[in-house]
Amino acid sequence: MLSVKGLRANVGDKEILRGLDLEVGPGEVHAIMGPNGSGKSTFAHVLSGREGYEVTGGAATFEGQNLLELEPEERAHLGLFLAFQYPVELAGVNNTYFLKAALNSIRKARGEEELDAVSFLRLIKEKLKILHLDDSLLKRAVNAGFSGGEKKRNEIFQMALLEPKLAILDETDSGLDIDALRVVAGGVNALRSPERSVIVVTHYQRLLDYIQPDYVHVLAKGQIIRSGGKELALELEEKGYGWIETEGRAA
Ligand code: ADP
Ligand code: MG
Ligand code: MG
Repeated sequence: MLSVKGLRANVGDKEILRGLDLEVGPGEVHAIMGPNGSGKSTFAHVLSGREGYEVTGGAATFEGQNLLELEPEERAHLGLFLAFQYPVELAGVNNTYFLKAALNSIRKARGEEELDAVSFLRLIKEKLKILHLDDSLLKRAVNAGFSGGEKKRNEIFQMALLEPKLAILDETDSGLDIDALRVVAGGVNALRSPERSVIVVTHYQRLLDYIQPDYVHVLAKGQIIRSGGKELALELEEKGYGWIETEGRAA
């Protein structure tokens, strides 16, 4: 589904991704862990097509299409979704209006018709319930004045509504208390299916108790330096990252 080979990218003059390889198949959940500043968010942004990131080498395809030549919107239309580590506040943009526009644009790309107002409202009410979000958030501007936890849940709410084929969650668990973490994990698990894939970027093993990954990868200095099953996350929790980086250099 997603195939990344030797991906290199710069932010400004600085090389951040230094030959990153990752294969994600349909239905798989991959966790990416790694020290601060290793390039996890950069990788997520490069996949989503955010400006300010210059790809200098390698390839990234999604269902066989070259992602790197597509606009961010075209990537979203293919079924790619990114939940931001730092969700953006859109002052003056009503949340309901925003969600409706996003959903209809994606439905159109899928060849589905626009939802009428009644069906749309029914759908968002159902998804709000999964994320335990209050419907008063719908009347407000996107993320404006939302608490940290509300912003993170709002990202997963958007994901639940848009039903992407590949969702990338960038530290969605950071700053969440244990109840919010369960709710967010429930939202992600509700989306799991044999056709859908998820990449969760996290610092904490804890999230992976709720969202069981098929694979765990360690990203350090812009490369995946180790991959394993979910036991690797436990090992990282216990020993940190230093031992892998040392072994990596010795090998
Ligand atoms: P992680 O998500 O793994 O903590 P990031 O991808 O956010 O790491 O950052 C990787 C490196 O790129 C860091 O050294 C960071 O300072 C740098 N970086 C990221 N975004 C920018 C930016 N917009 N401008 C300058 N440097 C950046
Ligand atoms: Mg970080
Ligand atoms: Mg980050």
